[in-house]
Amino acid sequence: MSSFTGQRLGRLIAERTGQPGLGHDAEVVGRVLPFKVSAHVVDELVDWDRAPDDPLYRLVMPHRDMLAPADFAAVEAALRDGDRVRLRLVVDGLRERLTPHPGGQLHLNVPEDGRGLRHRYPETLLVFPRQGQTCHGYCAYCFRWPQFTGDTERRQAVDGPGAADAYLAGHPEVTDVLLTGGDPLVLRAELLDTYVAPLLARPHVRTVRMVTKAVSFAPERFLTAPDADDLLRLFERIVASGRHLALMLQVSHPRELHPEPARRALRRLRATGAVLRTQAPVVRHVNDDADVWARMWQEQVELGLVPYYMFVERDTGPRRYFGLPLARALAIHADAARRVSGLARTARGPVMSTELGKLVLDGVAHLPGGPAFALRALQARDPALVGTLAHARFDPAARWWDDLLPYGPRDRVLVPGKPLTLEGVVG
Ligand code: SF4
Repeated sequence: MSSFTGQRLGRLIAERTGQPGLGHDAEVVGRVLPFKVSAHVVDELVDWDRAPDDPLYRLVMPHRDMLAPADFAAVEAALRDGDRVRLRLVVDGLRERLTPHPGGQLHLNVPEDGRGLRHRYPETLLVFPRQGQTCHGYCAYCFRWPQFTGDTERRQAVDGPGAADAYLAGHPEVTDVLLTGGDPLVLRAELLDTYVAPLLARPHVRTVRMVTKAVSFAPERFLTAPDADDLLRLFERIVASGRHLALMLQVSHPRELHPEPARRALRRLRATGAVLRTQAPVVRHVNDDADVWARMWQEQVELGLVPYYMFVERDTGPRRYFGLPLARALAIHADAARRVSGLARTARGPVMSTELGKLVLDGVAHLPGGPAFALRALQARDPALVGTLAHARFDPAARWWDDLLPYGPRDRVLVPGKPLTLEGVVG
């Protein structure tokens, strides 16, 4: 499964587009943010004739607008001068300013015994296998980008299955275990099995979830990889044990599932008994269009997949490039939902994954004091808050929950810098 990174990716872009400037820009931006593009994406997904405006190009390739002009110039100058020390300082400083760990993910819900586990909600444990802290290719908007920059300080990972198993022994309330990264399906089937087998030995673990982009970026993982069949047998074993196996497929654009290898991979995965759900953020340049989402949801339903989440781009990495105002994300979700039948209208969103939990924007309410965003807690660290409603003042420019102001004195949820409580129940 070959892939392109660094200068090799810059050369590929210059060659395939015939625009050396794009290759140069890619090399500059690629010093700050991680990029990795699989051969399948290069050959089957990107429409090179439409680069750089092709949505699949935008999904995976570096672009100079991902950095502020002054930051781009600083990195470019350090590269041009061959000043490695200055380059290191500039890059480190920039990465720090790009909010490498939004939502407090490095310290909130992390058990005392170290990084690599997150007890996100009472019933849900996230496990980050060390060997899975990469993906077959990277989405350029990835909110987990620090996992890929080679910076072990910023990396969350467990060295083996023992940490999760020990934690589960003391936490019978955990019913859902999420293997994540990165992409746990970069692990060889044999190694993945070492993480899965202890879960199946714990009766209280009822659901095993795996988040993956492999169908879109490397469908050969399920077709011709030496352990493809072993991986499918492992999935069958999880299902045969009576557990729910949820494969959470990251799919940002309908074209990702058009190539025949992706279709074949989906057929094989469905045959294991796994339930395939889809999720992605709504992002500028790629899928900020209701028609794209409506087509994507409808086609996914036809393929036997369940549209699950439309996320809001998180406050990290190249958000200046991909981010959208909340009002725009809401309009796209509502408009797309209106264009499909109820069966394809299952994706909850737009959803913000915050320190508090998952907040969904339900719509705009026209209240006596003016328009207000209606928010609901889909998930919360405190289970008592699940389902709680709140109103925030409508702000067409707001991009994240902490940009919002409470609508009334009881809507205290949205005050930046205040304790994270969701007490603004609207009666
Ligand atoms: S699949 Fe997920 S973890 Fe991997 S690059 Fe894309 S968003 Fe990041």
